[in-house]
Amino acid sequence: CFITLEGIDGAGKSTHLGFIRDWLSTHGIAAEFTREPGGTPLGEQIRALLLAVDTEVSLDAETLLMFASRQQLVSSVIRPALQAGRWVVSDRFSDSTFAFQGGGRGVPTERIAVLEDWVQQGLQPDLTLLFDVPLDVASQRMAGSRQLDRFEQEKADFHQRVRSAYLQRAAQDARFRVLDATRSIAQLQQDIAGHLAALLEQ
Ligand code: C5P
Repeated sequence: CFITLEGIDGAGKSTHLGFIRDWLSTHGIAAEFTREPGGTPLGEQIRALLLAVDTEVSLDAETLLMFASRQQLVSSVIRPALQAGRWVVSDRFSDSTFAFQGGGRGVPTERIAVLEDWVQQGLQPDLTLLFDVPLDVASQRMAGSRQLDRFEQEKADFHQRVRSAYLQRAAQDARFRVLDATRSIAQLQQDIAGHLAALLEQ
């Protein structure tokens, strides 16, 4: 099974990765954990370039680099793991590009869809957990936490568009589970465990 975690910055998805790791190992499931952009040596270099605040990157270059990182990850990590019967959990995947570069920056969805077809060739997550929070909660969580990257420094209306794009996509595809991430960590973990158990039973 292929699981992805999505959400605006500050939604808290990384907090839950540890829980998912423990849950899978308790249930005897071998899994690969990865992240985007990144997850491979090439991808991590692309990530560093993309997140640096002082590197000029055009909108299309940004989108193509996201997919360059993704192609490397799909071909060298995700597909081999799935073929070997392992589960894959990715902190972000192509829904991030639809939300950030599409909703946030205005790259036409059809263009992103072309790249998605090219790079993924039909590969889609079996389950996507969307951690959804209002912007004020997300920005409070991020305040003072660390140095903000290029995307985190964007204005509130950018993040608002990203959130809306996520919710729109989630409404159109049954693989999404929208989690109200303003709730306590314990409540969220209970929900996540339920979704993982349902996937295991499939
Ligand atoms: O989730 P994480 O903090 O690792 O993501 C790194 C940064 O890249 C975030 O600021 C995220 O918003 C941004 N990003 C993006 N477009 C993507 C994937 C990530 O703008 N397709």
